[in-house]
Amino acid sequence: MRKFAGYPIVINYNLHTQLRSRPKELALHQAAKYEAERQLTIKTNTSSDGAIENNLWKKEIDQYEGTVHQMLQKVEANPVGRTVLGLINKQATVWIIPKSDADLKQCNCAQTNPLKFDIPKDGSYARGFGSGDTVIQFRPELEDDTLLHELVHAYRYSYNKYRPIVMDVWDGDTGDIQNSEEFFAHQMETIYLSQANRPLELDYKWARVSDKATIYDFLVKNTKMLQALKGFLRHEYMAMIAAHTFSAVYNPFRDFKSLEAANLMNRSANELPELSPLAGS
Ligand SMILES: [Zn+2]
Repeated sequence: MRKFAGYPIVINYNLHTQLRSRPKELALHQAAKYEAERQLTIKTNTSSDGAIENNLWKKEIDQYEGTVHQMLQKVEANPVGRTVLGLINKQATVWIIPKSDADLKQCNCAQTNPLKFDIPKDGSYARGFGSGDTVIQFRPELEDDTLLHELVHAYRYSYNKYRPIVMDVWDGDTGDIQNSEEFFAHQMETIYLSQANRPLELDYKWARVSDKATIYDFLVKNTKMLQALKGFLRHEYMAMIAAHTFSAVYNPFRDFKSLEAANLMNRSANELPELSPLAGS
């Protein structure tokens, strides 16, 4: 278990603890003992494999925690990353744990959920509701910009602001839906990449490599996304800081006015409404 100095972040290699605990968690779930299941999940996510007999997994622990620690240093060396890290609520703890092969098979992605998730009323396995401490399931091969994206989710949860709103989006050919939390995390991730002059991706779903002009054009054609940008600019401190601070070439928060004007060209309205209810309760 390793703390990332100065930030409320703990890197915790617990893969074998997870594998041992999972069948018990499943059994509790199937028996509808949801509170006991949650208690066990919390214990699993905050226990280190270092507690397993004779420190059997010491090499794996050192390797994972060392690599993620280096990755966090890389995030911190980027002004966008440093801002995200610094804004996470210090009353909360962000746990970064490895994602098992089985979990990775289900989704080749990182995931962030509240540590003490709200128990779903419908008996489902949903873990995404709640606030405060969070757990990021992460593998180093997913890279530092993905970690930054998850830290944005963790930040929103840490202030009880995580409220996904579904938006209709399209890429010129196909339509889809996307939620506002993924959109926001993706925007911060893209600004982070741009700040380091690294290749950018069009969108959270349509991840093809694209330049700034192409992505701005895409945003202009997605009115809901512009409304989301506006909502975040009004209600999300991190978006306001992004607009005022980062010199990255790609920064739709800073450039919002011109994106909005391009969207409204040849239309009678002179302002877009913000995506509602982004302000939350
Ligand atoms: Zn995400």
